[in-house]
Amino acid sequence: MVDIRSVGVIGAGQMGGGIAHVCALAGYEVRLNDLSRERIDAGISQIERNMSRQVSRGIIDEAAMKAALARIHPAEALADIGSTDIAIEAATENEVTKKAIFKSLEPHLGKDTLLASNTSSISITRLASNTDRPERFIGLHFMNPAPLMKLVEIIRGIATDVVTYEVAVNFAKSLGKTTANAEDFPAFIVNRILVPMINEAIYTLYEGVGTVDAIDTALRLGANHPMGPLELGDFIGLDTVLSIMNVLHEGLADSKYRPCPLLTKYVEAGWLGRKTGRGFYDYRGETPVPTR
Ligand code: NAD
Repeated sequence: MVDIRSVGVIGAGQMGGGIAHVCALAGYEVRLNDLSRERIDAGISQIERNMSRQVSRGIIDEAAMKAALARIHPAEALADIGSTDIAIEAATENEVTKKAIFKSLEPHLGKDTLLASNTSSISITRLASNTDRPERFIGLHFMNPAPLMKLVEIIRGIATDVVTYEVAVNFAKSLGKTTANAEDFPAFIVNRILVPMINEAIYTLYEGVGTVDAIDTALRLGANHPMGPLELGDFIGLDTVLSIMNVLHEGLADSKYRPCPLLTKYVEAGWLGRKTGRGFYDYRGETPVPTR
């Protein structure tokens, strides 16, 4: 069984950064890759800010933060990821992008290196079949924000072997997470349920049933959700929400999963939510203001 000591993370955005954060705090050596050195550095700066917040709240101490940050190494080339024990892909939610990353990674991988994808919706079996090691490929779906959220959804592809599954479960547990197993069907469990709800909230806005504020207030206070669905869509990233709806729509061939045209319009405008400063709310001022 592979003894995991080092972790490669591909994609230094919200999720890749969060995964690197959690792994480094748990004592793993981490190599973090993205399309450019600037993006890797931006990811590491965000991790520093997030860890500093944990220090100020007394969740970790200064020494743990320093030690964890020293364990995160920029990996400008995918070749630098090859020597790690597990490579976790957390790049943009696009099947072509993800397949290309795994193909480019392949020549650099050690014989026993495990491959994982943090995809929110794309078939693990399909991603795995595109690599030289479908039996050592698994879905490790961290939740956002990874340092705070307790769950890691584990998805086995058709070919994933038992040893890979056991290593993955133990690895997630070593990060202090609880696991839930999902079968490899579009969007697995969490997003099969959550993302159509967000899409329905966008339809509710689109059809004029309620304003942004009314819809979010209604679900926060009426259903006791910690965040309203539009706020949550902005938090996830509306490009990711749209990709997941497209995967559900195409993969399950059911019109109930059709993405709301208003969601598509926001993505076409580049209003992707918090990460771009605007989505259903405008985040550029002191307090978020609804954009409709
Ligand atoms: P993001 O937009 O914040 O980050 C994606 C990063 O991937 C960007 O920094 C981008 O530069 C990088 N990237 C794109 N192509 C690349 C390539 N070829 N090589 C290396 N890096 C590349 O997106 P995110 O929210 O971090 O989502 C990443 C993955 O995690 C997606 O598969 C998404 O579905 C999944 N996910 C997202 C959430 C969420 O709430 N946002 C939750 C769980 C899982």
